[in-house]
Amino acid sequence: MNKILEVKNLKKHYPVKKNLYGKTRETVKAVDGIDLHINYGEVLGLVGESGCGKSTTGRTILRLLDPTEGQIIFQGRDITEYSRKQMRSVYKDMQLIFQDPFASLNPRKKAGNAIEEVLYVHKVKDKAERKERVRELFNMVGLRQEELEKYPHEFSGGQRQRIVIARALAVNPKLIVCDEPVAALDVSIQAQIVNLLTGLQKRLGLSYLFISHDLRVVKYMSDRVAVMYLGKIVETAPADELFNNPLHPYSQALLSSIAAIRPGEKRKKIVLEGEVPSPVNPPSGCRFRTRCKYAMKRCSEIEPKLKHVGGEHFVRCHLH
Ligand code: SF4
Repeated sequence: MNKILEVKNLKKHYPVKKNLYGKTRETVKAVDGIDLHINYGEVLGLVGESGCGKSTTGRTILRLLDPTEGQIIFQGRDITEYSRKQMRSVYKDMQLIFQDPFASLNPRKKAGNAIEEVLYVHKVKDKAERKERVRELFNMVGLRQEELEKYPHEFSGGQRQRIVIARALAVNPKLIVCDEPVAALDVSIQAQIVNLLTGLQKRLGLSYLFISHDLRVVKYMSDRVAVMYLGKIVETAPADELFNNPLHPYSQALLSSIAAIRPGEKRKKIVLEGEVPSPVNPPSGCRFRTRCKYAMKRCSEIEPKLKHVGGEHFVRCHLH
């Protein structure tokens, strides 16, 4: 299968001040050397606890943040060092859907105008053509034509997210980074937005990087899933395989919380001891060793590599 996106050894480190004078600096290693790829028409789920670096990964791939190291290859082009101006042409094919639709819409701009503006920026100069496309997009995301003239505050949270989705689709992107797209919505409407995103992905052949802490949603949406812990990917596998047979002790603990997803299954919930260590000073060797019940001497001495364990399944653990 052809790759739409390939990320190699991606790092995003932030310098942080250590003392009042700002002279001594420490580094937060939010993303610390990840490799991943997404095929055309594929949904890759990215999961992990809050603060593991998954949103930073999405924003760095989109070049909203500059990477510290590594390579981002999108549709065969190395965009790692692209200028803001060069990135404008990339954004025609790569878009973002944020968690909070209210924050990503201009409160003074009518819904229809917010979408039309994107078309204008991307050089759709004919006004009638823009208006027609906006009507088409409203239709696609299940909004009524009369709502084109409304302001963001006149919509519900779910409707606002539909506007954001329509705006992301305006220029026919190939890849959408969905960063917790339903986390800010009422539980009652989350399923509607998830179904809308799934339907559009299939119908338009889109690729998604689907970032979420909600494992049920990720399982439903994704073809493959990558599990992230403290700035590293610890396991990737096809979604069914990962949820049926997680191999990394962290994935096992994380996924045990949704055991009831399969009726009749008896899988014990694994409670992780201790806090997530600081990304300023992560543990030596395996980063998960301070919370892993299988930790052995070599886990503190040697950092495990992401190993191929068959098919499309990779795991970063000395047990495998
Ligand atoms: Fe646990 Fe060691 Fe595997 Fe890390 S490498 S997950 S500490 S067994």
